Amino acid sequence: MNIGFIGLGNMGGPMAANLAKAGHVVTGYDTASVAIDGVTLAESAAAAAAEQDVVITMLPNGAILRAVAAEIVPAMKQGAVFLDCSTVDVDSARFVAQAAEDAGLLALDAPVSGGIGGAQGGTLTFMVGGSEAAFGKAKPLFDIMGQKAVHCGPSGNGQAAKICNNMILGVTMIATCEAFALADKLGLDRQAMFDVVSTSSGYSWSMNAYCPAPGIGPKSPADNDYKPGFAADLMLKDLRLSQQAAEAADADTPMGQAATALYARFVEDEDGKGMDFSAMLPRFEKRGRG
Ligand code: NAD
Repeated sequence: MNIGFIGLGNMGGPMAANLAKAGHVVTGYDTASVAIDGVTLAESAAAAAAEQDVVITMLPNGAILRAVAAEIVPAMKQGAVFLDCSTVDVDSARFVAQAAEDAGLLALDAPVSGGIGGAQGGTLTFMVGGSEAAFGKAKPLFDIMGQKAVHCGPSGNGQAAKICNNMILGVTMIATCEAFALADKLGLDRQAMFDVVSTSSGYSWSMNAYCPAPGIGPKSPADNDYKPGFAADLMLKDLRLSQQAAEAADADTPMGQAATALYARFVEDEDGKGMDFSAMLPRFEKRGRG
């Protein structure tokens, strides 16, 4: 296929490289100066998008996605697929999908989970919103860039799945970290705590697969001085998107709200910026109730 790829950062760069390595002809564009193996660079987003079968975007936020969409939708050929893999608000996802469909294109929102390692290794999970027809056309590309693609329903539903998942993740990570800090203060050995909880009803991905205590459980960013991994800043971004959506949909999400407030404090007022999101554990360790 001929593929345009716009946004060649930490995630988009390796995703585009994997598509090129698999034999697709990839033309890329980024406002920053980048060089990606196998990818030819274009002068503008519109030039990267013109005449392509599929155009993929991997951008920082909804406002940038809307601006890029306004530029590339008129440049794309009829019937081509506009495939946005960024994590953005549900409203922006639905807005650009509608604009693309009004212009005779197919549209998908397909945010990912798996982080930079997943992008490099081609093991991402895609959560996809859009029509069956669009999903069918993009499926071979999901198979190259990832290990799983779940079709979640119409446009915007991929983003909805992503922010609901990450709201659970933020909440369970905080719960796991505060429980470890309490266990420490009660004199419970961390290994014993892990052995019990990871096989009892308190288990979760945060405890079992990404344990925030160094030296305990499988290897995780806690074993690497809490270098990300999944940065607390990105968790905050996703939690804020979840609360924006909850507000718009009039959904009561008190735990999501509390997690958002705590990550905001951690990233903006304390020392959480640039740390992995599991660094909530040393944060709790330093504190008492006051
Ligand atoms: P990044 O900042 O490394 O990459 C974004 C790229 O977009 C940059 O290279 C930037 O120069 C480029 N860009 C900005 N404005 C542009 C424009 N108008 N036209 C063309 N290019 C433009 O970010 P990232 O880590 O690659 O994340 C990309 C998206 O993936 C975000 O929405 C993020 O939330 C999501 N995501 C990231 C991770 C992760 O672990 N990094 C995991 C899952 C999802």
